[in-house]
Amino acid sequence: MQVADESRRGFDGMSSLQAVMDALSPVALMLEKQAFDQGRAFGYCRGCGIWSWFVQPLEAEGWANLSEGMLCACGLNGRMRGVLAVVDDVLARMDAVPEAAVFERLTPMFGPLLRRLPGITGSEFLGMQYRSGDMVEHGGLQVRHESMDDTSYASGSLGLVMHFDVLEHVPDPMAALRECHRILVPGGRLVFSTPFYEELTISIRRAWLRDGVLVHDLPAAYHGNPVDEGGALVFTQFGQDLFDMVAAAGFCGVEARLAFNPVEGVLTNACPYPDGHAWPVVFVAAKPAASA
Ligand SMILES: [Zn+2]
Repeated sequence: MQVADESRRGFDGMSSLQAVMDALSPVALMLEKQAFDQGRAFGYCRGCGIWSWFVQPLEAEGWANLSEGMLCACGLNGRMRGVLAVVDDVLARMDAVPEAAVFERLTPMFGPLLRRLPGITGSEFLGMQYRSGDMVEHGGLQVRHESMDDTSYASGSLGLVMHFDVLEHVPDPMAALRECHRILVPGGRLVFSTPFYEELTISIRRAWLRDGVLVHDLPAAYHGNPVDEGGALVFTQFGQDLFDMVAAAGFCGVEARLAFNPVEGVLTNACPYPDGHAWPVVFVAAKPAASA
């Protein structure tokens, strides 16, 4: 991926992030082993606002993804609670409640976001046959369809744009980041998460579209998808050059926030293999205030 001059800040951010991860590593390993051994952990859920047991079922291989697990009774998993903490922090620093959009509608995450941002619009990608902005009946709900690389939002119309674990499923992540930049007001914020493989210097493209036809560079990998039981295909595994990509899309002040917080049941994904291990990292980027 292309390296832009603005990326220096990103690389500095990465080295300090790496140092924090290294320092926290023994604590994370201990708490994660405890969660596996006990099958649950006690903590505070900022989604439903109560102290509760987060349940962690084990999978066959003796480990399970703790970011997607550690489930609160309200449905939020560890990853979502970590994201919500960063959203809360970003909102606390804004002068007013922003016009907001999130590319997510059908997960337990939407409720807590709607309570914080009463005018927020949520959407899902519901299929190639729809146009962005279409309302589609899905499971008894009218759900807005948006394709993140070509949305129906007007340019400069939103103060806050969010997507959580969506970017890795978009065929052209640069196009999606540029689109998020387009729809934000100058000075607006993009908050997003995606599995971030801190050991990877350069992101891995697993699949892409050539003239609309799916090409696999690597064996197909899928993540859970709220609108398709078959899962969502992973196009990209992001590494450290994600900072450069966000900067190249026009954003400034790209920050990676480490959302690790045992009190709220936010740990790493606990993958025992170094190339699959991911900390709970949430990215916050700003559209420059003077941007045209
Ligand atoms: Zn909860």
